[in-house]
Amino acid sequence: MSRQMPPAHPFDDDKLKEECGIYGVIGVADAANFVALGLHALQHRGQEAGGIVCHHPDHGFNNARRFGYVRDNFTDQNLMATLPGPLAIGHVRYSTAGGKAPVIRDVQPFFGEFSMGGAAVAHNGNITNADALRRELIERGSIFQSNSDSECIIHLMARSLQKTIPDRMEDALRRVEGAFSVVAMTRTKLIGVRDPLGVRPLVLGQIGDGWVLSSETCALDIIGARYVREVEPGEMVVITDQGVESRRPFRKQPSRFCIFEHVYFSRPDSIIGGRSVYETRRQIGIELAKESPVDADLVCPVPDSGTPAAIGFSHESGIPYAMGIIRNQYMGRTFIEPTEQIRNMGVRLKLNVNRALIEGKRVILVDDSVVRGTTSRKIKEMILDAGAKEVHFRIASPPTAWPCFYGVDTPEREKLLAATMSEEEMRDHLQVDSLRFISLDGLYRAVGEAEGRNAKCPQYCDACFSGEYPVAPSDQIEKGFTLKAAE
Ligand code: SF4
Repeated sequence: MSRQMPPAHPFDDDKLKEECGIYGVIGVADAANFVALGLHALQHRGQEAGGIVCHHPDHGFNNARRFGYVRDNFTDQNLMATLPGPLAIGHVRYSTAGGKAPVIRDVQPFFGEFSMGGAAVAHNGNITNADALRRELIERGSIFQSNSDSECIIHLMARSLQKTIPDRMEDALRRVEGAFSVVAMTRTKLIGVRDPLGVRPLVLGQIGDGWVLSSETCALDIIGARYVREVEPGEMVVITDQGVESRRPFRKQPSRFCIFEHVYFSRPDSIIGGRSVYETRRQIGIELAKESPVDADLVCPVPDSGTPAAIGFSHESGIPYAMGIIRNQYMGRTFIEPTEQIRNMGVRLKLNVNRALIEGKRVILVDDSVVRGTTSRKIKEMILDAGAKEVHFRIASPPTAWPCFYGVDTPEREKLLAATMSEEEMRDHLQVDSLRFISLDGLYRAVGEAEGRNAKCPQYCDACFSGEYPVAPSDQIEKGFTLKAAE
């Protein structure tokens, strides 16, 4: 079955987009209901489709995969009744706007039947050697069911000679390069793994006698689970009714968590590395105001992701904060399949200027990032149309000049504004009175690195800003992608 889906936010193609959220629960009755709630809390990480696999001792493995929002699918009691058992995992994925038409067989979790029993796998991230692995596996007889990189993991597990599923998974993941957080299950085990650099997040929680794995802590809160700790970079946790076993399948390396999770991807009510995402974003605004002050009358966020940074900017600068732009919260894919005419209305369908506040004012607009620059330009026009005297952009991330190959949907490098223009050229292009981005050091300070970025051994992945990829994107290099020249 295949079905063309509109992008989740048809007028919002000017942001980087996280591609997946993962979740798993063991040791509670009807675990799939908890997984559905968890996936609902992770919906910001992917709106195209969701899937759940579960296991019941009498009914075996069952699964459901659906296009669309979790709330529109996994609230159907008839459907949920087909997903019984104390163990379940789930996945939400992002819509590949403008890419290949999505097909239901690409929707995770993926399931494989092995001689020692079934296993299901849900993956957040991107396997940077997936093309090479797929070629090799096909040559050796594997039959792929989907277009997804993540299916390689199941085939590598099938080829392993190890005797248990967790051991096979270790074997498989040692062949995989790139960024991965994985939640998997057997009949009796819930398994969580993070790649050696820990690029993508994964946390462990507890609910009663049961355990939870989740991309973010906000999805623990929704089911009343207690945050226990992060699954550490390079760690595999194998959870049974006996408790949590921690394994270390990979060679230890310095971690390189995705710094953009702090800026934009994660929900502001999540905790990352012991830090509140909201507070980090507020701190980014403070750093930005210190680095790039400007005389103005109002600080306005581009909602919603620019809001905490705007609050920080206002706090540090003493310039009043105001909701100069209002977001229509109900602009989801449920709206309509957009016609050309409606598409031309663009960002106005999602954002509206609060004219009474803006008229005659010098306005500082705080946004999380500039990708193609198309939205920034339209927002500036709306603000000027509303009678603003000056428009100053302050951006809560450094210029995004390089694509991400670790599980985030990014335009090709040529389409990134910062890849082809200097900051001053971008200001000219956007026709604003001033444009400033937070520095990479400023961003590192905001995430708690008091000394800024360690140039010799950066504490985070920041490749989309610096061009320094912690794992060489080998498939992309084979296709002609050129890495930044060494300085
Ligand atoms: S390249 Fe950017 S978005 Fe991708 S993992 Fe690294 S910091 Fe995150």
